[in-house]
Amino acid sequence: MNPPQQPRTAPSQGTGRLVDGFGRVHTDLRVSVTDRCNLRCSYCMPVDAAFRPREELLAYEEIARVVRVAAGLGVRAVRITGGEPLLRSGLDALVRLLVAVPGVGDVALTTNGLLLAEQAERLRRAGLHRLNVSLDSLRADVFETLARRRGLDRVLAGLVAAKAAGFGAIRINAVSIRGLTEEEIVPLAEFCRREAFHLRFIEFMPLDAEAAWADDRVLSGREVRAILERHVGPLVPLPAGDRGQPAVDFAWADGGGRVGFIDPVTAPFCDRCDRLRLTADGQVRNCLFSTTEWDVRPVLRGDADEAAVDAGIAALLRACVGAKRAAHGIGSTGFERPARAMFQIGG
Ligand code: SAM
Ligand code: SF4
Repeated sequence: MNPPQQPRTAPSQGTGRLVDGFGRVHTDLRVSVTDRCNLRCSYCMPVDAAFRPREELLAYEEIARVVRVAAGLGVRAVRITGGEPLLRSGLDALVRLLVAVPGVGDVALTTNGLLLAEQAERLRRAGLHRLNVSLDSLRADVFETLARRRGLDRVLAGLVAAKAAGFGAIRINAVSIRGLTEEEIVPLAEFCRREAFHLRFIEFMPLDAEAAWADDRVLSGREVRAILERHVGPLVPLPAGDRGQPAVDFAWADGGGRVGFIDPVTAPFCDRCDRLRLTADGQVRNCLFSTTEWDVRPVLRGDADEAAVDAGIAALLRACVGAKRAAHGIGSTGFERPARAMFQIGG
């Protein structure tokens, strides 16, 4: 894999879209609302996680303000994530604020599903467009081994509630880890075919808090696909849709829905990355693997007038996008893991 290169063009200046030095236009913002979680997935969090104090987290109004400025610069899709976003109280209030932002046409949520049964209907009424639920195993014992807490029954109840609330095209995200998840692949695929969920397998990335990641633990999308074709049936590649979409989707040849693969380690999609991230404590990041962050809190919480605050947020977003590297560089000699683990960034 090539190490990050030098920018080919000057990043965009002034008003207009968020274009980086490699011509990538940023239209997708991932917003983490908390670093807390009710699970302790080994690939994400430490068992004894310490969390940011409440006052460091952005308020919903502050998040909406950043999103409004970002939308003015061309951001069209927002995903709420965490930690576990449903732990943040009154999350439907944030959804209402975000769906009302002019220009934002897609507000989605990624959740572990434990609190979904209680909240699905409220979220739907608030206008949430799309839902991703993370589920790595349908066996209670394996779920507990991976998540280091119990909860499978609650996730399954959450999925039933989400369907009843009217969410369509629900996605299921499953992380693939060699030696841990091979046996889960076929049951998950059969479950998703039956329930008409869109399953996506994600390669294990070096973002776990306990630094257990190693390249030989990565069960590649290609290997998962081979298991599926051997035990479930043939897959037909689907034409790529949205250019910024990291997943490569396949349809079951028998018409049983689709399955996708997000392969950031074995088939990086950095060349078409259109994402920015806002952490729960107000750090803007241009990559999951970014080692630099742009702190938006002093801009939001200073005593400048409204127009100056908005201009400050826009300048910060531009600076962050302008500094984006060509690629994450996993596997290259210069690769440096970020200080934050996944739960502190927002996946
Ligand atoms: N708690 C919510 C959940 O689990 O869906 C939202 C946050 S979680 C960090 C978002 C997604 O990141 C989940 O689908 C999770 O499986 C994935 N994830 C976490 N750590 C990962 C890692 N090291 N490699 C690949 N995916 C990871
Ligand atoms: Fe929590 Fe999601 Fe991380 Fe699992 S992947 S520990 S559910 S934040």
